[in-house]
Amino acid sequence: MNYLEVSPYGVVGKDFLVLTYASAATLPAGAVVEIPVGQRKFVGVVLRTVPKPQFECKEILRVLTDRPLPPALLALQQWLSQYYLTHPSTVWQTILPAGLNKSRRTQSPATSAARTVLAANKQKGLCCKDRPCSKELTFDQQTAISQILKMKSGTALLHGITGSGKTEVYKALAMQAAARGKSSIILVPEISLTAQLVAEFKKDFSHVIVTHSKQTEAERHLIWLEALNADQPVVVIGPRSALFMPVNNLGFIAIDECHEPSYKQEKAPRYSALRAASVLAEKSGARLVLGSATPLIADYFTAQKLGRPIIKMNQLARPDAVKPKTTVIDMTRSSAGSKNPIFSKPLLEAMEKTLVNNKQILIFHNRRGSAPVTLCENCGWTAFCPRCFVPLTLHVDKHQLKCHICGHHEPPPTSCPVCREANIIHKGLGTKMIESEIRKLFPDATVRRFDGDNPSGEGVHDMYDELKSGKINIIIGTQTIAKGLDLPNLTLVGIPQADAGLMLPDFSSSERTFQLIAQAAGRVGRNKAASQVIIQTYQPKHPAVVCGSTQNYKAFYDFEIKNRQKNHFPPFAHLLKLTNSYKTEKSAINSARKLALLIANDSQLAKIHILGPTPAFYERQRDLWRWQIIVRAAKRADLVKVAGLIPPQHWQSELDPN
Ligand code: ADP
Ligand code: ZN
Ligand code: ZN
Repeated sequence: MNYLEVSPYGVVGKDFLVLTYASAATLPAGAVVEIPVGQRKFVGVVLRTVPKPQFECKEILRVLTDRPLPPALLALQQWLSQYYLTHPSTVWQTILPAGLNKSRRTQSPATSAARTVLAANKQKGLCCKDRPCSKELTFDQQTAISQILKMKSGTALLHGITGSGKTEVYKALAMQAAARGKSSIILVPEISLTAQLVAEFKKDFSHVIVTHSKQTEAERHLIWLEALNADQPVVVIGPRSALFMPVNNLGFIAIDECHEPSYKQEKAPRYSALRAASVLAEKSGARLVLGSATPLIADYFTAQKLGRPIIKMNQLARPDAVKPKTTVIDMTRSSAGSKNPIFSKPLLEAMEKTLVNNKQILIFHNRRGSAPVTLCENCGWTAFCPRCFVPLTLHVDKHQLKCHICGHHEPPPTSCPVCREANIIHKGLGTKMIESEIRKLFPDATVRRFDGDNPSGEGVHDMYDELKSGKINIIIGTQTIAKGLDLPNLTLVGIPQADAGLMLPDFSSSERTFQLIAQAAGRVGRNKAASQVIIQTYQPKHPAVVCGSTQNYKAFYDFEIKNRQKNHFPPFAHLLKLTNSYKTEKSAINSARKLALLIANDSQLAKIHILGPTPAFYERQRDLWRWQIIVRAAKRADLVKVAGLIPPQHWQSELDPN
C-alpha cells in the first residue's frame, strides 16, 4: 500500500488542509483523484507520498486523469493559498474546473480527426509556413521580440501605444515557444476581445484552445482535458482563469491590456492575474509579457524598481496610419453650447460629417441606463435602493428604476412619495439616454448600444462582424467597447462626459479616467483614414483628461506617481481592506471599531496605519450594513499579520485592493 496526502477540492473543514488516503498504485504529485469524505465523494489532488500513518486510512476511489497536473500549476496553487491567505481547497475551486469526477460525452470523433489532419499538415503544431499569413514585422516589433527573447525567462513590460501592433509580438513569441516544443497562454481582458484575437492566432497555429465564461461545465471539463493531454504545443487564449489551464511545458505567457481591472478576481482568492502569472512563469521557466498602452502606475513603477525590461513601441504598426485630430471641448463655456443637452456643436457637426462620409462613430460613456439619479425638484427626495442605499438608475425602455448592485427594480413614481408633487426629474447621463438622443438626431443611422444591459447574443462578441464591417453606423458603449477593438471604418470617437469617473472615492479614480480616455481615443488613428477624437468635459485642465486625450502616458505617470508618494498610496505602501457585513448598522459600526482598536493596540504592528473605520463604498448591500477599515503598511508582511486578526465571521479581507 501507498499512503498519499490529498488536497481536497471544496472545503471539507476549516482545519483540514490535507487528508491521507491509501492507494495500491503509486501516484505522482499532481494526480487528480476521487476520494471518499464521509458519505460523499470529493475531487482531490495528490500532494505527496507519506509513511504509513498511525490512523486508519480509506482508499482512493479512482484516478480521474491520465496525467498529473503540471508541477508549476501545483506550485502556483500553493503560492496563491499563501500569498492571498486563502484556504487551499478554495484555491482549487478557482484553478480546476467543476465536476472533474463526472463522466462527459467526449468530442465527436469527426472534429478530433479533422484536427489531426490539420496538425499533420502543419508539422508539429507550428506555423503554416506554406501560406503568407503573417505580416512583415515593423522595426518596433522586431526590436521588441529580440529584446524579449534575450531575456531567458521572467517578466517584461511591453509598453506600446494603441495600434503599435502588440498582437503580432505575442504571436511571434508564441511561435518561437512552439518551435521549442513549448505551449503558450494568452490572456485577454474579456470575452469581447477573443473573437478578434482567436481569428488572428488561428491563422498561424493549428492547436488553439479557447476558454471563455459562456462555456458550460462540461465544455470546460473537456477543454481542460484537451490541454492536459495535448502532446504538441498548444496556444491557450482566454480571460484571467485561462492562466490555470493545465498546459505541460509552458514557454510563454502574454497578458494583453494588462491594466484592465478584470485581471483581479473579486472573490477569494482575490488574486491579481499579473502576480500569479509572474509566479507561474518563474516556476515554469517561461517568459511573461505584460502588454498595455497604459500600464498601471504601480506596475510600471515595480518594473522600473526591479530592473525588468520595459520595452517601448511608439510607432503605429501600419505604415499608412494617420494619427487622429484631438479636440477637448470645455463644457463650462457657453461657446460649447448647442441646443442639444448632451452634444456640443463641434461633436454634432463631426457626427453629421462622418455619417455623410459613410464612416463609423463611437460614442463612449461609462455609465449604463438612462439617468443615474431620479429626484423630486420640489422637496429633494431621491430614489434609492431600499436594500443597498445607492441611487436607482432609470431605464426608460423598461420603464423601471433599477439598482445596479442587487438588481432591485420598481416603476418610476409619477409623483413624489414624500411631498406628492409631480415634479419628478431624472438627472445625469447614461448610455440609454445617449442612445435615444442619437436615434432622434439621426433617424436614418443604424445605432447600437453595447453595455452590461445587452441581452445575451447581442454583445460585442456576437455582433463583431457587423461592428467590423461598418454596418453599424453609430456605436454607443461603456468600457466593454473601449478596450482593444480594431474597427477599420471607425473615424470619429466622441466622449460626452470625460470626467464622469473622477468623482469616485478611490485612490485610482484619476488613473482609471486617464486609461478610459486614452483607450477610447486609441480606437482611431489605426489606419490611413483621417480621424477625429472629440472629448467633452467640465474639467478640461485635469491631468487625467489632458494626458488621456493626448495619450501622453509619461506626463500622466509623472503627475500621478508624485500624488501617490505624497499621499502614501500604492506603489509606495501596501493596502489591506477589511470589510464587515451585519444585519444592523449598530453591529457593523461596533464591530469595526472593536477591530480597529484591536489592530491599533497590537504591539507587534507598530508600523501600520489605520484609515477608518468608515462606511464601505457600498454601505448597504442586499439588506446588510457594511463598514470597512483600510490598513496601510510599508511591508506587505505586516498586513498579512493584520489579516490574521480578523474575526472568522462577518469579516472579509482583501490584500492589494484595486
Ligand atoms: P495594439 O494591440 O498594439 O493596439 P494591434 O496588434 O491591434 O495593436 O495592431 C494594430 C493594427 O496594426 C492592426 O490592424 C494590425 O493588423 C496592424 N498591424 C500589426 N502589425 C503590423 C505590421 N507589421 N504591418 C502592418 N500592419 C500591422
Ligand atoms: Zn417631493
Ligand atoms: Zn440594491
